[in-house]
Amino acid sequence: APGAAARFAMPDTAIGIVGGGQLGRMLAMAAARLGYRVIVLDPDAGCPAAQVANAQIVAAYDDVAALRDLAARTSVVTYEFENVPVAQIRAAVTAVPLYPPAEALEVTQDRVVEKAFLNGIGVATAEWRAIDSVAELGHALVELDGDCILKTRRFGYDGKGQASIRKGGPHADVFESLGGVPAILEKKVPFAYECSIIAARGIDGSVVAYDPAENVHRLGILHTSTVPGRVSPQVGEAARAIAASILAKLGYVGVIGVEFFVQGDDTILVNEIAPRVHNSGHWTEAACVVSQFEQHVRAIAGLPLGAAARHSDCVMENLIGDDVKRVAAILAEPATLLHLYGKPEARPGRKMGHLTRLTD
Ligand code: ADP
Ligand code: MG
Repeated sequence: APGAAARFAMPDTAIGIVGGGQLGRMLAMAAARLGYRVIVLDPDAGCPAAQVANAQIVAAYDDVAALRDLAARTSVVTYEFENVPVAQIRAAVTAVPLYPPAEALEVTQDRVVEKAFLNGIGVATAEWRAIDSVAELGHALVELDGDCILKTRRFGYDGKGQASIRKGGPHADVFESLGGVPAILEKKVPFAYECSIIAARGIDGSVVAYDPAENVHRLGILHTSTVPGRVSPQVGEAARAIAASILAKLGYVGVIGVEFFVQGDDTILVNEIAPRVHNSGHWTEAACVVSQFEQHVRAIAGLPLGAAARHSDCVMENLIGDDVKRVAAILAEPATLLHLYGKPEARPGRKMGHLTRLTD
């Protein structure tokens, strides 16, 4: 909307980001390039995003006074992860917009609520059952009748909080091994491959979507995103349509990531939704004129959305833990963009950076 754009055209406008990991860092860099100041709220002083932001509020994510301070010093508040406490951010962010809206947090921070939402708008997922006890797990395993995955309803990421259960295999200890917390049992999908789509919706309801990426995970963590990979035009169209209907249903503003399982007959199931910029969209900074990070800033600031067309095929690869030691060799490649997150210590399983190799 022109009014919103005019409001945010001020060079002195600040954007608030809750969460200071690598996603917040890349959002802050994109915001800076559009002339905005950035204030990051994160409990860890000197977190990746704070290193490139104008200011940091060092506080817990459920600290309402700190969240209020963030809202008071900025013109719009956004977040880089889906586990922002909903009641607290709702209470704190009242005078300025919160984008994406709190409803997007409510839907995506609980896997049962997320699956029920998707099925409720006609989007297919893996078969699932909500699990609150060992007895329920036993019944659900009989009903789903196949290999399954038990996942905690909340706080899982990078494959954490998940356990596989083979058909007819032992399951008595699995519920307790995940902490005995509310869980979801999903039937294992024998997918041909996984893909995802990154899309954005503006304040005026306009939608753009990047080309889908084929994703390969290793040990539950995204390893590569390849564009176009194996994704056929029909699968891409189906993925775009699903992303657009999710965005509209949530009254969404900002960038969303939607993960899919693609079955052998090219039908698709949604795996999960991320109400934020997404690891499988990092390639857009190298292969598109407007990256997912700039697109998110444009959306929440009320600026016109940018084109999502890509100018190159590419492969994005995550640099996990000691992978970061490959930096010299990566820098010697002629058509590869390296991005490091400023994390001081390369622990196993820790996302240290990524590269995007242009492949045409
Ligand atoms: P996370 O929040 O950790 O990304 P996901 O639910 O996306 O959790 O699971 C991580 C990965 O585990 C998926 O990308 C997929 O490779 C595998 N996976 C998860 N659920 C299923 C399922 N129902 N069937 C087959 N594979 C699955
Ligand atoms: Mg996932």
